[in-house]
Amino acid sequence: MFRFSIRSSQTLALSRGLLLLLALTGAGGTVFGQAEHANPWAPTDPGPLPPIQSLSDGIWLKGDLHLHSRHSHDSSNNSEAKIIDFSKSVGMDFICITDHDNHVQGDVAHNTWIDPEFKSDSVLLLYGAEWTTTRGHGNIFSARPYDHQRLYDVRDQRDIVIGAVKKELGVHLSANHPSGKDHFGFSYDMVDSIEVWNSAVWPKNANAIMIWDDMLSSGRKLTGRGGSDSHHGTPDSPELATKNSYQREANYVGTPTTWVFAKARTLQAVVDALTNGRVAVSANPYGPRVEFYADLDGDGRMDMMMGDNAKPTGKPVTFRVQLAGKTIPGGDYTVSVVKNGDPFKTLKAEGATPAVEFTDTPASIGRTYYRVEVTGPQTAYPEVPKSMALSGNMIGLSNPIYFNFDPNF
Ligand SMILES: [Zn+2]
Ligand SMILES: [Zn+2]
Repeated sequence: MFRFSIRSSQTLALSRGLLLLLALTGAGGTVFGQAEHANPWAPTDPGPLPPIQSLSDGIWLKGDLHLHSRHSHDSSNNSEAKIIDFSKSVGMDFICITDHDNHVQGDVAHNTWIDPEFKSDSVLLLYGAEWTTTRGHGNIFSARPYDHQRLYDVRDQRDIVIGAVKKELGVHLSANHPSGKDHFGFSYDMVDSIEVWNSAVWPKNANAIMIWDDMLSSGRKLTGRGGSDSHHGTPDSPELATKNSYQREANYVGTPTTWVFAKARTLQAVVDALTNGRVAVSANPYGPRVEFYADLDGDGRMDMMMGDNAKPTGKPVTFRVQLAGKTIPGGDYTVSVVKNGDPFKTLKAEGATPAVEFTDTPASIGRTYYRVEVTGPQTAYPEVPKSMALSGNMIGLSNPIYFNFDPNF
């Protein structure tokens, strides 16, 4: 109503001006008629932001969201049973086996999912696939079987057609390896997350991080996630060692590991947490998890976490970064804070539970986001021993805490 009355009075003032102009110039009435048109493309008010979820209402779960089994033709000796058994042995709570859909003409339902090995008594198995198209790759995550064939069949069509099918299927679409070969070449308006950390080779993700910051800076509330993209299950014995054996020892389940703060230990809760951005990525399953919180109302208690979106109060906000889990005793960890795509602060975190706090006042008007990256000594991952050197000193990253973002994105 407020907006309407402003627009009405503006139109009135404009009309008066035009009448005067018309009287002075003697021009016809067509210009006057145009001034009456409302702008059909004017942005609509997204309305109040959704309430922030409770910080205690959930459970941290870890997993790998990009894995290829033998149903991908570029995989070697990597059966589903091998992937699932290994995932269980390193404490994974969920995984998604994302075979290339083009290797089975879209029929992942009768390949990846119908495989008798697709079962586990402890690891949550998401339904998904790698949507492998000429315009790049994306991963689908779903809590239940869905008609993947429909997405495969529209892969070469316009985004508007693909977006409608994705919406109808109710699945989560994630942009894979967004830079370089097979980069995701579709609109980011139809994706729910982006793979900002692909494989153990951390340095090659610099462009992916840049694209993520670009998308966040352009106003998209977009979850960053990891995925090992591992293809090879060899060697399981020295005799089976092949040219891919190095890859098995360097990049396998959990390099990197994606953590989600889910409301429950269910497939749907994992997908929801991913969509909502309560997500962190660690170099491996044993490495510490980066937790990022904010105290919005200044009462000394954290009331927001990464993925949450709030209206700024105009007052300073206290942010807290902490490393949870297995840190290296006496290790020096460096927390780099990124604000709206730019470096903002660098802080040192030490101690048994390394943690740091900083304050800032998000602008009242326009969008602001903060996210953090943590570097330091790598926690060992003996099952995939060569991954540590490839990840270098990159320990983990958080998702952003958002202010004034459009909740509909
Ligand atoms: Zn790919
Ligand atoms: Zn892949």
